[in-house]
Amino acid sequence: MNEKEIIEKLEKGKLGLRSIDKHLSPKDAADVRRKFVEKKTGVSLENTSNYSFDVDTATKKNIENMVGATHVPLGVAGPLVIDGDFAKGEFYIPLATTEGALVASVSRGCRAITNAGGAKVFAENKGMTRAPVFKVSGIEEGRKLVQWVEKNFSRIKNVAESTTRFGELKKIHPWICGKNVYLRFVFDTKDAMGMNMAVVACDKVVVELIEKETKVKCIALSGNMCVDKKPSFMNYVKGRGKRVHAEAVLKRNIIEKILKTTPEDLVEVNYRKSMVGSAMAGSLGFNAHFANMVAALYIATGQDPAHVVGGSMGMTTVELEGKDLYISVYMPNVNIGTVGGGTGLATQKEALEMLGVYGAGNTPGDNAMKLAEIVGATVLAGELSVLGALATGDLAKAHVMLGRGK
Ligand code: NAP
Repeated sequence: MNEKEIIEKLEKGKLGLRSIDKHLSPKDAADVRRKFVEKKTGVSLENTSNYSFDVDTATKKNIENMVGATHVPLGVAGPLVIDGDFAKGEFYIPLATTEGALVASVSRGCRAITNAGGAKVFAENKGMTRAPVFKVSGIEEGRKLVQWVEKNFSRIKNVAESTTRFGELKKIHPWICGKNVYLRFVFDTKDAMGMNMAVVACDKVVVELIEKETKVKCIALSGNMCVDKKPSFMNYVKGRGKRVHAEAVLKRNIIEKILKTTPEDLVEVNYRKSMVGSAMAGSLGFNAHFANMVAALYIATGQDPAHVVGGSMGMTTVELEGKDLYISVYMPNVNIGTVGGGTGLATQKEALEMLGVYGAGNTPGDNAMKLAEIVGATVLAGELSVLGALATGDLAKAHVMLGRGK
């Protein structure tokens, strides 16, 4: 079938958007699909048709019904000096965003922190989780299922790990609630964010082992106690993916010179905003704007942007250290990877390379830990700067100037 015939069939509803892939190469299929959508909507998608990534790879791993690409501007903040277990030295941070003022603000935070000697950072590998839900007859059968799982853990681990060269099943946390049993599987997924890895491993365990041997039915492979892409106390307390800590101590003169405020004012803004305000609102984000830095860094480096939900949770503490300032961020749910997902796409790969974390680490898992530390330090810089802008009353001014171009 040629292009004209395909578009005619699409118009008559005799061919679905997805079926074009059977007749054309991925690139040609994207072009024809775009032309069809242009015809149907009367909108030119000329800009959407410009992109540089490999269509074959993208259509295999990242996108269905592809018509082109959405472009998000990329800026760079830094240099940011980081002192972590994995991230050491000076970094330029790629941030993809359409929010004017964000990159400028993070850059200011980087300058203050770097002038103060850098951000101290470490990440804990809490593991990627998936929690299938099983239906039992009541709490007695629930207890039996949990006992069976505990007794058979090493068999479950063998089956789970037969699906991957890298993933390791670390533990299973069980919960019984009436006729429901939730088994929260925790995996070390090394350099991968690991959600697909965890799903594939859990599926095999559930189908080939648990259901077969216990006769208990799994209702859903994800029973929401994972918890994926929803804000939750579970992930706040237990951690998911990486749990990241970052801190810096800044001399008073740096605060005065770069942020044009004082340590005392920063402490007060953070207390009344991030602590009391967030508590009043019942927010899980005891912070100024984690989500801004997380979203921009995730989009730039090919992370799953839906995981901004988890990355937005956490706490910023600000205290006086003598006459100077202590600031920290606590991020319990940083889901990132340096392999898989969108990390291999052309521009995302370049951003990861800028940070020295593209692909698998020399020891599997090292690159993901390094990226998690970079996320923590970047968020620290963004928090410091915005708290400063709030303390001086410059937040609105900066946004009008840089977000509205005035
Ligand atoms: P993936 O691309 O599906 O898997 C990672 C791949 O990288 C595996 O094939 C793994 O090998 C390989 N690999 C090579 N070197 C590695 C290393 N050093 N460490 C770890 N793995 C290495 O990615 P994923 O991280 O598992 O899943 C991420 C994707 O899941 C994202 O696209 C995200 O949007 C999506 N997602 C899925 C769900 C879901 O429910 N399925 C939910 C949320 C998000 P092996 O095959 O040997 O393990």
